[in-house]
Amino acid sequence: MQNIPLFDAHCDTASKALAKSQGLRRNALHTDLTRGGAYAPYAQVFAVFADGGLPDVTGRCEAILSFLEAELAKNADIVALCGSAEEIQNAAAAKKIAALISVEGAEQLGCSTARLAEVYRRGVRIVNPCWNHNNALCGAAIVWRQDSAGAWGIGSPGGGLTAQGREFIRAAQGLGVAVDVSHMSEAAFWDACEIAQKPLLASHSNSKALCGHPRNLTDAQFCAIAEMGGAVGINLVADFLEESGAADPGAVLRHIGHFLSLSGEKTVCLGGDLDGTNQLPRGFGGVESYAALYELLLEEDYGEGLVRDIFYNNLLSYFERAL
Ligand SMILES: [Zn+2]
Repeated sequence: MQNIPLFDAHCDTASKALAKSQGLRRNALHTDLTRGGAYAPYAQVFAVFADGGLPDVTGRCEAILSFLEAELAKNADIVALCGSAEEIQNAAAAKKIAALISVEGAEQLGCSTARLAEVYRRGVRIVNPCWNHNNALCGAAIVWRQDSAGAWGIGSPGGGLTAQGREFIRAAQGLGVAVDVSHMSEAAFWDACEIAQKPLLASHSNSKALCGHPRNLTDAQFCAIAEMGGAVGINLVADFLEESGAADPGAVLRHIGHFLSLSGEKTVCLGGDLDGTNQLPRGFGGVESYAALYELLLEEDYGEGLVRDIFYNNLLSYFERAL
């Protein structure tokens, strides 16, 4: 895989590795630095994710961030924490993996811009204002809800940005933290488009035209992101690829093809949500399976330049504009 580059915009591996007492260098999860490092260059956004619906979310966020810092330090021979596009390029030139850190769900930061500035100093460069809960900043695309019998299900999408949410997004973009709209309600998405001073990222969201899941993007949302110079990462979670919840690699190709048909050649990238799900497409085991996707895209006759843009260059260019 020495000739295949890979830049993935979202994985939940750090949280899962900590929960399962595993490391980042080699593990039994969807991705690790050894398997990912087979791509050249390889860059990965590692999400800090703690469910805001559980107690002490800020404490658990701190534990995951500290774990990630320790793992990156321990593996400094092969990976470098990056805070800018230039640092990502420097890591690639030094034949190291580039790691970026996101915080998925701002309730982990108490929805506080002061706390965001603190974690910025520790390397965080991407933030999702919400996860699957409405919070003080905005409504969520999916809202987990318990019915009277105690069973969990998906409630109606949340509302737009609050005044605090607008302030938070302005502060994030002012700091040089990319705002990730995956998980935001559609109302909050359009509010964010109105106030955005820098392009927005949807790190792990697919096409709603192909799969009507509330976490996916309408064509209008995709085009708005494309027009502002944003990026959209293709998610490998089967539920977001096929309404049946069972997907094959062809479904991934269809979502990519649909976004390309909306003039998304410089917008589409990858954001597999590895370790955020147990339902990858048939035949996908983890990060090593991106190589097969690369070959499938070449077989679709997209041309190697476009496939390399999707796999790496589009996300790198996005961070040049957004950080
Ligand atoms: Zn997510």
